[in-house]
Parts: sequence; C-alpha cells; structure tokens
Amino acid sequence: MGKKIYLSSPHMGGGEMKYVKEAFDSNWVAPLGPNVDAFERELCSATGAKHVAALSSGTAAIHLSLIMLGVGPGDYVIGTSFTFSATVNPIAYLGAIPVLIDSEPGTWNMDPELLEEAITGLKEGVLRSGGHAVLRSDKRLPKAIVVAHLYGMPARMKEIMAVADKYGIPVVEDAAEALGSEYMGRRVGCNSKFGILSFNGNKIITTSGGGALISGDAALIERARFLATQARDQAPHYQHSTIGYNYRMSNVVAGIGRGQLEVLDLRIRQHREINAWYRELLKDVPGVTFQSEPSPDFYSNFWLTCIVIDPSVAGTDREKLRLAFEEANIESRPLWKPMHMQPVFAGCPAYVNGTSEKLFENGLCLPSGSNIDAEGRARIAEVLRREFGI
Ligand SMILES: *Cc1c(COP(=O)(O)O)cnc(C)c1O
Repeated sequence: MGKKIYLSSPHMGGGEMKYVKEAFDSNWVAPLGPNVDAFERELCSATGAKHVAALSSGTAAIHLSLIMLGVGPGDYVIGTSFTFSATVNPIAYLGAIPVLIDSEPGTWNMDPELLEEAITGLKEGVLRSGGHAVLRSDKRLPKAIVVAHLYGMPARMKEIMAVADKYGIPVVEDAAEALGSEYMGRRVGCNSKFGILSFNGNKIITTSGGGALISGDAALIERARFLATQARDQAPHYQHSTIGYNYRMSNVVAGIGRGQLEVLDLRIRQHREINAWYRELLKDVPGVTFQSEPSPDFYSNFWLTCIVIDPSVAGTDREKLRLAFEEANIESRPLWKPMHMQPVFAGCPAYVNGTSEKLFENGLCLPSGSNIDAEGRARIAEVLRREFGI
C-alpha cells in the first residue's frame, strides 16, 4: 500500500524558513513583531482588504468580530447551517442564539431567500425550529449574519448583502476556506463589514495554525488588535477597562505565512487544476455532480473538490466510495454535517429546505492537495475507475 494521501496537507513553498530564521536570528520569538506586521501588509495586497489583523485562529477572528458587533447573551445571530462548527461556535461563546440557515443548491452556501424568511420571522416574533413555528414575545432583529464560503465557493453575496442592508444587519464573511476566491471580480472577505481567514494546517495556505480578521474600517481593526492583546489600556502599569483575549499571532508563525503567501496564486491554480482533472475523469459517470461555479461571477479557489453521488444511478454510493479510498490509504471525507443536525445545536431555530441534508447524505470531499503527485493521482483514479466501473 502506498503512503497516505491526505485531503489537503500542508505544502510549503520554500520561502518560509527564511522568514522563520529571521525571527530566530533577531530573537523575535514572541507574539507580534516584524513578521506579523509584514504578513498583515502582504495579506492586504493578497486579498484587496484595506486593513488586516493577524490572529491566532480563524475561530478567534469570528469571536472578535461578533464581540465588536455587540453580540451578547440572548441575542440572535444568523449563521450558515452547512459549514464547519467553527462558523457557529463563537455565537455560542457569547451566550447568543444561533439561527441556522440552509443552503441553496447553486453554490451550496447560505440561501438568501431563507435568510430573509428568518429575519422577517424574528421581526414578527415567529421562529421556525425543526419544521415547527415557535412563538416569541420579543421581536428583536438578529445582531449579525455569519456567512461561510464553503470549500472555496463564494456565497451569493449580492443577494445576501441586499437582504442584510434592507434590515441594517452587519455581515461577517467566513472565508476560512476561500482565501483567494473571487466574487464579481473581488476577493472574498471584502464584501461586508468583516471577513475572516484561517491558516490552519489543512487550508489552502497554512501557518500551522492561525487566522486573520479583515475589514475596510481601520478603527475596527485597531480595536480587534487591542482586544486580542489582553485589552491593555495606555498606561505603564497593567490597567484594563474591558475584558481582553490572547488572540494575536506569533512572529514565528507569521514567518511561515509570509512564505506561504508567495505561493498563494500558484496553490489556487493547482487546486483548480486538480478540480479540472476530476471533472475530466468523471465526466461520463451518470449520477455524479460537482460543486460548481454557477456563473462567471464566481471564482472558487477549489480548496477541496466536492462531488455528490446519486446512488440510484451511479452504481455506488458515498460511503462505499469513502471506504474504498480508505482501503487504498487515501483520505476522503463526507461533506459537512449541517449544524441544525448536530446534537450540540439541536434546539436552535433553523430554516431548512433539505439542501444541506441531501448534500451531507450523498456528498464527498475528494483528496485535493496541491502536493498530490502523478503516482498519487494514479492511485486515486484507480479507485474511482473501479468504484464507478469506468
Ligand atoms: C477552518 C475553518 C474555520 C476556523 O478556522 P481555525 O483557524 O481552524 O480556527 C472557520 N470556518 C470554516 C468554514 C473553516 O473551515
């Protein structure tokens, strides 16, 4: 059996050690420092963002954005249901109530029509939960909307922002999986009040662990930096007037990020190329569909290539294929289990249309790493040919 092929493993560009060595040589082995400042500047040019704060994780970035939007106990915050739990967890950190919105079939991301239904529901004091209408006496609007761009695919931001603006609700774009993806010619994360990025080990570029908050508002990013460094007031002694967090990125880790940014555009090309390779390989297989860009307005980094298998036509199913990959020491993974199906969010209001449940049932993420070589592809193709009988 060949060595393990991962879904998407770290892929160094070669420049990382130079920056890490600089940190060591100058003994700047500490939080903050010149690599962090440079990484923030370079992230601005890589994303088109005006202002960036490099942080310890993408989750921390979502947490800080919600704190700055004034989210507190008992507030409602709207979130994508079909996502990784880190999109929604920070809502719970603050004692707020997630209102989960299902996907639309085009992008697999938040459905703008369901979003509006949820907002009018909140406004009128009627909420849906598990298919039932629940009456409430408070008629408060949600404090924020957190929308994820899953597997690299931009959500329908024009429609989502139109709904959000109509009711004056700020939007946080969770672009943890979508660094470098574009929507209507702009990189994602810059279409709203806040964008967040992740540099976790499996993302399209990595710092081993890390994240960033991006915004067009300099004061908000300044505030995020303040909160992320324990909220120290201007004073020679340690004085605090507000609760702070230890969420800043370290200078060593930022060095890895600087090296990784040098190859971001290359990585995007490579992930798109492997996506095209899968499409060609599976183009004649009945019952297999891909997560696809609905129009030229959408440009995905295709962090992961994802397929849906209709078992009544394809001759196999999601689980059989996953186990066949596992047998060959190849990692694949079911699509995200929607948050409204998760035990931990079971009681939350949810606006559901069946899309994400079907995706979860029949969908699979295929190995998509930019470092999968020709031999790796041959092993992957062998499993796919055998399972689909092509
Ligand atoms: C990875 C991820 C996050 C969290 O990022 P971390 O840096 O791991 O905290 C948030 N949202 C989505 C959709 C993710 O995939």
